[in-house]
Amino acid sequence: MFRKTRLFTPGPTPLLPAAQFAMAAADVHHRTPEFRALYSKVLEQMKTFVGTRNDVLLLTCSGTGAMEASVSNLTSPDDEVLVLSAGKFGERWTAIAKAFHCNVTTVSKAYGQTFAMDEIKAQLKPTTRVVYMQATETSTGARHDVEGVAKLLRGTDTLLVVDAITGLGTTALDVDGWGIDVIIGGSQKALMIPPGLAYMAVSDRAWKRMESSRQPKYYFDLPKERKSAAKGEASYTPPVALIAGLGAALDHLAQQGAGDLAKGRDLLIQNAESCAAMTRAAARALGLELFAPNSPGAAVTAIKAPAGISSDDVVKSLKSRFGAIVANGQGDMKGQLFRIAHLGYFDYLDTIALIGALEHVMSTITPGKFQIGDALRAAQSVFSERTQKTAVAQPA
Ligand SMILES: *Cc1c(COP(=O)(O)O)cnc(C)c1O
Repeated sequence: MFRKTRLFTPGPTPLLPAAQFAMAAADVHHRTPEFRALYSKVLEQMKTFVGTRNDVLLLTCSGTGAMEASVSNLTSPDDEVLVLSAGKFGERWTAIAKAFHCNVTTVSKAYGQTFAMDEIKAQLKPTTRVVYMQATETSTGARHDVEGVAKLLRGTDTLLVVDAITGLGTTALDVDGWGIDVIIGGSQKALMIPPGLAYMAVSDRAWKRMESSRQPKYYFDLPKERKSAAKGEASYTPPVALIAGLGAALDHLAQQGAGDLAKGRDLLIQNAESCAAMTRAAARALGLELFAPNSPGAAVTAIKAPAGISSDDVVKSLKSRFGAIVANGQGDMKGQLFRIAHLGYFDYLDTIALIGALEHVMSTITPGKFQIGDALRAAQSVFSERTQKTAVAQPA
């Protein structure tokens, strides 16, 4: 049969057609009133998307650039920082903070696990300047308790920086209510546009902290970027096409919410949660275990390969037989698990189709463990339950 190539990877994710058209048409110079109007509009919409009254900045880089900026702008050499690490992206915080000569303490958990609040509390000191964490650890599929960590920091001078690069648009995060000082996202995740743009919302406390930072910085000078943004500009040449695509994606979300972008964003989150719940039910029906069973997030579902089998086989068969691109494990986790994304432009049919394909692949790899149709039935009944619930919850 024909195979259509489809991404089920947790970044890059499938592109929204309206965003692709906007990008193709974006033949605009960045120092013009036309571009300033677009940039200012997108920055304002991004506040709503993130759910904050804080300033939102766009940076021309992948998500890691914004992670680096939140170390280089908020710390000074020898500052004590605490990193919560239970996966490849937690490890990235440690590496970046060390590169800027911070004095790093880590609360480390095994891959697939999450943190207990008393373990974090035990490592927090009055001298801890910043806590760095992930909202969702994309390498393991785990969701971390951002609200719990924010509560531990309430009333202290410790800043909270959250890599929500796959958390935004998949997870309910009350940025201002909980007191998240910096929250970071990336274009190639839930926003349905290509890689190349990172964004971050910055609190008043964090702006204040930057005044005393003694780290070297040039391109990622956030106070400078803030001044440019206030004029509807970026400090350097911005990725004009990506910003046009972002504008189209945000307009699309607003349309989904009947004109209300916050509502459209909430629908995007519910959508990811439904796709994730269907996928977890399907995995169980296939006799497969989750990699992060205690705290699975909605951005991506990480599924363990069966004993004695490499996840390489699952990843390769899904691609060669069905054109479905899922992610393997990262680093030491390669071969142990495969990851199916739900963030951004996925729907019921995408999810059901992938689960159907996974049944065919697993029936070849582990024959006799389940009947064809078991996983689809499990996913369909999750879908029925969830849509029934929302149908009841929504007044006519
Ligand atoms: C994708 C991702 C990043 C950023 O990766 P880039 O390749 O730099 O965009 C960081 N943290 C998490 C949790 C991610 O999923």
